[in-house]
Order: sequence, then C-alpha cells, then structure tokens
Amino acid sequence: MKITRVDVFGYDLTYVHGRYVMSRGRVIERLASTVVRITTDNGLEGFGETCPLGPSYLEAHGAGARAALRELAPALLGLDPRELACVGDRMDEALLGHGYAKAAVDAACWDILGTSASLPVCTLLGGRRHDTFPLYIAIPLGPPEEMAAYAEARRAEGIHRFQLKLGADGRADAARVHAVLEATGDEDIVIADANGGLRAQEAVIAARLLEPYERVYLEQPCPTLEECLYVRRLTTLPMVLDEVITDPTTFLRAWHACGMDAVNVKISKVGGLTRARRLRELAEAVGVSLTIEDTWGGDLVTAAVSHLAASVDERLLFTVSFMNDWTNEHIAGYEPRSQVGLGRAPERPGLGVDVDVAALGEPLFSAAA
Ligand code: MG
Repeated sequence: MKITRVDVFGYDLTYVHGRYVMSRGRVIERLASTVVRITTDNGLEGFGETCPLGPSYLEAHGAGARAALRELAPALLGLDPRELACVGDRMDEALLGHGYAKAAVDAACWDILGTSASLPVCTLLGGRRHDTFPLYIAIPLGPPEEMAAYAEARRAEGIHRFQLKLGADGRADAARVHAVLEATGDEDIVIADANGGLRAQEAVIAARLLEPYERVYLEQPCPTLEECLYVRRLTTLPMVLDEVITDPTTFLRAWHACGMDAVNVKISKVGGLTRARRLRELAEAVGVSLTIEDTWGGDLVTAAVSHLAASVDERLLFTVSFMNDWTNEHIAGYEPRSQVGLGRAPERPGLGVDVDVAALGEPLFSAAA
C-alpha cells in the first residue's frame, strides 16, 4: 500500500461559550484548524486534524501547522501509511520538530491502518480497556462567581470534573477555586490549572490556601519544571504536569524528580498518536495517571482522543476532554459525541467517523504522485 495523495484543508473553530480565557491575557474565540486527508493507491482514505491553541500557548500556531505540512506532504508520497514508525522517520528527515503538524498526518495513517485491518484504532493501540470514561470541562478564567455559575451549569449537564483556568495571583486564584468548590459536591474533582501563569511565590500562596481541600488538584502552576518542582516540595496537593511534558525525556526527568502524580498528554503536543501511545505506556509502567486530550480541535481530534483514552489502564485514567463539545463547528456529524459527561470511542474501523469533505471546501494545497 502506498500513499498517492495528500490534501490539506483548513477551517475555523469557534468556542461554544464565547471567550476562552487563560492566564497571561490569553483569550481564544476562534482558531484555525487543519485537516489532512491521505489517499492510498488502493483507494483508502484517512483523516487527521491538528489545532494549536493560538500562537502563545505552546510553540505552535495555526499557520505554522499549514506551513509545516506544505513541507511534509511531498515527502509522504510512496510511503506505506500502515508503517507508522517509518512515516515518522520520513517526516523527521523532511522537517525537524513541528510535532503538532505531524500529528495530523500520524492520525490519518492510524485511520488507514484501522480501516485496512477492519479494526478500530483503540484495538490497535492495545485494546478497548473500558467502554466509557469521564470527561472534564475547562472553566475559563474570570471572576469567582462567574466560574462557579459556569461549573453549576456544566454540572447540570452531567460533568463532574472541572478544570479551572487560573491567573497570576495566588490569593485571587484560591478564591476562584473556593467558589467552584462551594458550587460543586463531594463527587466532583476540581483541577486548578494555571497553564504556567503563576510564578513560584504566588503558586505557593495558592497551594497553601488550597491545602485543606481533598478535591483539589494543581496543574502546571508555573512555566518551568523547576518552579513546579519547587511548589510541589511545599504542598501535598496532587500535581499534574502538562505544558512542560512533551516527550519521554521531559517525562522521565519530571518523574525522576518526583514531580507529578499525573501527566496531561495532549496528542498534538507530543507529536501524534504514535508518540502519545509511547508516553501512555511509560506513564502506565511507572504508575503516573493520565489526562488524555489535545490542545484544541473538532470531531477528528476528538475521535483520536477517544481511541487513546479507551486504551489507557482504567486505574490510571484521570480525565479526558472531548474538544468537539467545546466548539460550534462539526466536520464529522458531531461524532464521537459525549453523553452526560461520559465519552466513548467509536466502534467502527479506523478513527470511526465520517468526515464531511464538502463542508471543508477545496484543499488549501495538495501533493500527488
Ligand atoms: Mg493543562
């Protein structure tokens, strides 16, 4: 089987609740998402998607994904898409880094591998280890009462895991967490995620104020691993590391430093499903819990997330997000679809969703053999 054609499409995703606000003044209303379609000489098609969370979240941006894919697309022609490591090698030869762009190609190849084997991607990732898994929802940064009201509304929809976007002030951020704790119940988890926006002193203040609350988890309080480790030494709050963990090397470094109880694996952040599986296995081997999600994205990103989440050891699956619940636009019929706060991976072969190619319009560019 050989790749004979690569098409790259673009579309915009808007946030279903208006403005998505994070620390350091980062506000998201609309994002450029990029879809890759790979076609093979025997007529199979696979799809993948990547959508960076704006230009100042990670070292990634929407236009960057497209520029990288313009470099990568010709290099893919003639490869067997089922040989995922070989596809990864070829992409690394053609372009160093830019894992977030490669993630879309990797997902499309997994889609083809699944279709050609008549198996869902989660089976190929190791198996459907549980049918459903609990989803979390992020609460945009805002005044405490607004965040509490948002949590109440999502709780009424069946969500019991809340990830609060924090700012840069320890006392104000602790007040936000308090407000959400009061609006939620004993079965609810509250993850205080500063996305690296707090410096060590403010993070220590927030952690000290939140210390008595068993339902609270800290996620990536500070921008560097060293600052997060500093905070961790001064608190018993469980720690999730996210932005600083991008590959096995950073994971192992943090693990050796006893830096985390859980790791947030965003598929595009770590360079695609193939590399996310490697991190999943590493985390499982050493007993670190996992959040499975992506930076942002629509139905295709959600499909990839659902398969990876289904393949995680149930005891170590902390939270999952279905990004297509966060966006207004749907390119695969709003599938996979959450149900009352639970997610599930499609049963059909490959990623298991049908992309509405007509809705994507003409490709931005293509490469063909
Ligand atoms: Mg996070």
